[in-house]
Amino acid sequence: MRLKDKVALVTGGARGIGRAIALALAQEGANIVVADVNIEAAKTTASDIEKMGRQALALEMDVTDYAKTEEAVNKILDKFTKVDILINNAGITKDNLLLRMSAAEWDAVLNVNLKGTFNCIKAVSRPMIKQRSGKIVSIASIIGIIGNPGQANYSASKAGIIALTKTAAKELAARNINVNAIAPGFIQTEMTAKLPDQIKEKMKEAIPLAKFGVPEDVAAACVFLASEDAGYITGQTIVIDGGMVMA
Ligand code: NDP
Repeated sequence: MRLKDKVALVTGGARGIGRAIALALAQEGANIVVADVNIEAAKTTASDIEKMGRQALALEMDVTDYAKTEEAVNKILDKFTKVDILINNAGITKDNLLLRMSAAEWDAVLNVNLKGTFNCIKAVSRPMIKQRSGKIVSIASIIGIIGNPGQANYSASKAGIIALTKTAAKELAARNINVNAIAPGFIQTEMTAKLPDQIKEKMKEAIPLAKFGVPEDVAAACVFLASEDAGYITGQTIVIDGGMVMA
């Protein structure tokens, strides 16, 4: 097991990609804190993790509220005495063309996706610096690299995560903390289920591997980046998109 007795905080871990990441980290031996605005679903994921023989804690946490993220980290330290891994996965979309996008739509997406990631990195930094070890992985998106009509807010938030990852990696490297990002392409979850079939088919045509990804594809890379196998990797963004975007 690559993560035996590690303690991992997964934001938005109740469902979708976050849940798959939480289960995959637990499979490798980590104890998991499932933090989500959806506390009932978070409890279900936590109880599924306990059935795997790991310890789990479900926390109601809105990543946009710094005080709440700090409170959550203190609860984790009370229960587990340390926090080894942070996965910034909580994210939302509120799509609209630029001209029609409201300030509220812009603010909501930037607040959850980018400010939420900043809040959580800041909250775990202090204990990780003290421990002189840590692994931080943030879920960006290929949309933060290539842009997408109708997603000005989302693309800016995800590009922001990629830049924030580089700065945090440089600031925390001396304390043995690795900070990386993952940029998924089209992954089958409730977030993408709401897209019209016509758009989905068009997207599939642009994927060299000719299929959509599943949450477990993202989770596998997360386990790698959270493990010592990735000990010499920091400030990077790994693209998981079936070949859609090639540098
Ligand atoms: P889902 O919408 O399926 O799940 C997101 C989870 O985050 C939900 O449990 C949601 O709670 C929770 N959440 C939302 N807002 C907050 C908040 N403020 N604080 C804490 N938790 C919150 O999304 P996916 O699993 O599809 O996506 C996960 C991540 O992956 C996101 O960052 C997304 O941008 C990114 N991504 C997804 C892709 C895809 O194709 N699906 C592609 C590229 C990136 P609730 O249920 O209450 O909404």
